[in-house]
Amino acid sequence: MKRGIAILGSTGSIGKQAIEVIGLHPDRFFVTALTAHKNAALLFEQVRALRPRLAALTGVSEPVEVPDDLKFCEFRFGPRALAEVAREAEGQDVLAAVVGMVGLKSVMAARQAGKRVLLANKETLVAGGEMVMNACPKGTLLPVDSEHSAIFQCLQGAGPNPYERILLTASGGPFRTWDKERVKTATVAEALGHPTWNMGAKITIDSASMFNKALEIIEAKWLFNARPGQIQVVVHPQSIVHSAVEFKDGAVIAQMGVPDMKLPILYAMTYPERLQTGSKPLDLFALGQLTFERPDPEKFPALRMAYEALKAGGAACCVLNAANEEACYAFLRGEIPFGRISEIVETALQKHGGLPARELDDIDRADALARETARALMDGRSGSLIS
Ligand code: NDP
Ligand code: MG
Repeated sequence: MKRGIAILGSTGSIGKQAIEVIGLHPDRFFVTALTAHKNAALLFEQVRALRPRLAALTGVSEPVEVPDDLKFCEFRFGPRALAEVAREAEGQDVLAAVVGMVGLKSVMAARQAGKRVLLANKETLVAGGEMVMNACPKGTLLPVDSEHSAIFQCLQGAGPNPYERILLTASGGPFRTWDKERVKTATVAEALGHPTWNMGAKITIDSASMFNKALEIIEAKWLFNARPGQIQVVVHPQSIVHSAVEFKDGAVIAQMGVPDMKLPILYAMTYPERLQTGSKPLDLFALGQLTFERPDPEKFPALRMAYEALKAGGAACCVLNAANEEACYAFLRGEIPFGRISEIVETALQKHGGLPARELDDIDRADALARETARALMDGRSGSLIS
């Protein structure tokens, strides 16, 4: 039977790779809906090729003219269309591949409509962890993030044995070998030069600041019900071991492969089955060696902040994410130096880290306050004093 899949964020790095793997297996999948934020030209091209019944352009306030040959597809416009598409699309699966916690309501809407969520959009789980997990009984939320897919794959053979530890690998990003002072003044072009993965701009900056790994520590906590002390970040510059789990007897099961998101995307779509991704196989002889290092806590304070936010609970992780989103885009626009990103997140956490996160309104409030504080800090104002 063919599975129907809606792709939220189809014009992005994950969205485009999902379309590629779907194209390899037309007998297995059909696309029910697509969304883009502003890239109407690519969205139209994708609709023309994949013929979904529903599509949305979420980053426009007015309807955009749709080409005549695409009238078979219903188009929606504006930010609310994201959750509408997640809820109303035909088919069983929703691939959440938009960037930012703006995806939270669409993930909740997909679950309310009984859909299975394939989650690339980690900011959503970081911001709304408890609420999202409560809405996702076993088997209804599948990880797409490569490390979390790896952990999920490693756990398939565990039987009744609980894992003791998660070894969450990190490439270390472009600044792994730089000294601390130089990192603070890194340029946008330098931060966008990721050594092993080719991804969207926001996650590439997050990889350079290690906020990506901070978000992934929090993501792992929720997906695998881990205590923060069970998650160990291991820097592994070759990005071949995508993560590992350790058991009571000392056995460490790792998942390895070339750094290519097509595998985790397709595995989430076909789990527990494995299909061809079209990627080249891993050549261990060509690689020669795999290396592992401890992360540098001085150079990358993001990891410490993730553990602190998890310990604080409530909306602290949501605050960390919101302040990081604001600081990351400000850095990309050239408004703040690289070193300011972590300082802004730290201040936002100090101010708003104690807020509750019981329901969507709490999360929205914490998110808004953290963003307001981050923006005020960047403008040289003192920021919201409410906490
Ligand atoms: P991209 O920036 O490449 O793509 C983002 C997609 O979301 C685009 O389709 C974009 O539309 C759309 N979008 C952007 N802003 C909004 C918004 N405010 N509302 C609705 N849609 C929006 O990102 P990536 O594909 O790299 O990443 C997507 C998610 O997957 C992120 O959460 C990231 O952390 C996660 N992820 C990505 C990996 C990767 O290899 N790229 C690996 C693991 C996780 P438009 O093109 O019109 O702007
Ligand atoms: Mg990852």
